[in-house]
Amino acid sequence: MAQEPGNAPRLAELNWKEFRNMVPATYDGVVIPIGTVEAHGGIPLGTDIIIPEYLAERLAARLSLIIAPTVNYGVTRSLLPYPGSHTVTSATFRQYVTETFAGFGRMGFRKLVVVNGHGGHINELKEAAQAAYGDAGLFSIVLHWWLMAPEASEEVFGAEGGHAAVEETAGVVAARPDLVKAATLDGLKAATYDKGVFRMPFPRSVGVRESGKGMPSTDVKKAERYMALVEERCAEAVEEAFAGWREELGK
Ligand SMILES: [Zn+2]
Repeated sequence: MAQEPGNAPRLAELNWKEFRNMVPATYDGVVIPIGTVEAHGGIPLGTDIIIPEYLAERLAARLSLIIAPTVNYGVTRSLLPYPGSHTVTSATFRQYVTETFAGFGRMGFRKLVVVNGHGGHINELKEAAQAAYGDAGLFSIVLHWWLMAPEASEEVFGAEGGHAAVEETAGVVAARPDLVKAATLDGLKAATYDKGVFRMPFPRSVGVRESGKGMPSTDVKKAERYMALVEERCAEAVEEAFAGWREELGK
């Protein structure tokens, strides 16, 4: 079984008086999962939402954060033509997320942890995090979880994968094993990343670094081991940022 996440408060479930008593006195940090709706080979369209929510719950319990409601709609790019994929424009997303972050500052939070599940809006999140300091004095750390523990892919699965490959499949297996069926992973084909070419749309809904390596697996034990390593790495990164902010800047 996956380790239970413990009980962190959820912003949407508090009433305003509870919130007033908790923020910032007891909780001065908030964690927000951000994803998009996008085709992912044999795993769900909401993969980029499901995994950040899973990690955010665990980080909130470990690091004493309040869990904010998820931003579900993001900037989907090269997989947009695949059925079920959805996007908003980059400018809209940047503006919306910037204002959402600034809002947390106005609510009394001092620190923001973003758990991002999607590679298509990395620049927009960076700009929004920079603006959140300017607009609201908010300190923030953005975690692109799938980039954080390449050594864990090697250690657990023997290779790095890519989009909708071994890492994201492990994330969904750990979070929602009922949503991953071996039959839908069977016979999946992947396109290999190639820095020398740009393809629009990407020719497969699974992408890997090296042909034949890092393909999806339904192994629950390996998935849980891999996600535990990812969680550890994310927690370390946040703790390191918090310690620096506290010691250097008194925040
Ligand atoms: Zn994804």
